[in-house]
Amino acid sequence: MPSEPLADPPADPLVAQHVLEFPGGYTRTTGPVIGRFLSELRARRLVGVRTTEGRVLVPPLEYDPATGDPVTGEYVEVGPAGTVTTWAWVDEPLPGHPLDRPFAWAFIRLDGADTDLVHAVDPGHPKALRQGLRVWPVWREKPTGHITDISHFVPEVSQIRADVRTEYRIKAGGALRVFLEGVARGVFLGGRCERCAKVYVPYRSACPECGTAIPDTVEVPDTGTVTTFAINNLPDPRAPQVPFVSAYILLDGTDIPMIALVGDVPAHEVRQGMRVKAVWVPESERTASMANIRWFAPTGEPDVELS
Ligand SMILES: [Zn+2]
Repeated sequence: MPSEPLADPPADPLVAQHVLEFPGGYTRTTGPVIGRFLSELRARRLVGVRTTEGRVLVPPLEYDPATGDPVTGEYVEVGPAGTVTTWAWVDEPLPGHPLDRPFAWAFIRLDGADTDLVHAVDPGHPKALRQGLRVWPVWREKPTGHITDISHFVPEVSQIRADVRTEYRIKAGGALRVFLEGVARGVFLGGRCERCAKVYVPYRSACPECGTAIPDTVEVPDTGTVTTFAINNLPDPRAPQVPFVSAYILLDGTDIPMIALVGDVPAHEVRQGMRVKAVWVPESERTASMANIRWFAPTGEPDVELS
């Protein structure tokens, strides 16, 4: 196998560049163990071989490198997924590399194996690569019984992106209809549980705590106290401006807060314990919807100590 210096030798007389190649390919026998591995690979299966100590070597070897003992001849299917144990990043792939874009040579511990397989991983982005990354093989279209039957490995699918659009109509059922009919008249209707003595608003036909039926509504005031709130800096079609404040408001005489906007006050002045009153839209604009309540505005009363 003589090798000739290349036509254009480097200037340094002590350096000669050579190319060693076997045009048409270099044929060698695989032996039964690697042969089995490659045959399984051609069938798109990954196998290892079990050692006398019970470990699974992938790729399989004829002798256990830890003990020197011959392996058992028991082949075990592993993977196809695995976990990256360590890697080396390749910024500029060379001719003959499995990918023509940046990738990593990685040690991959296939599921069920006790040793690592070296293969290429394309994580999409170098920062996506990490120890413990779950990866799956990408198979070549026409396997031939060669390690390159796996083109490379890619990260496990962990998220999907899908267009979402839902159109729906809500039909207010019994209790909600009763509540919204109240709102259309400019009153809040709640329900009092006879057993717990708690007042819930909006009205519901059964107590959420004890399940007792609540046959009748009670009218509750449209004044209350801010129990907690959020200042929102993203526009929302239901809010008049940015920033706006959404708050949990405990209407007087009720035991559960309702969520509503707070207005007529700078956002930074809203506070827990602040007394507020509903601002209703003019009667002529009212419908059976929560849009009837423009927002809650401060009453100017002293703050309430929250328990
Ligand atoms: Zn109850």
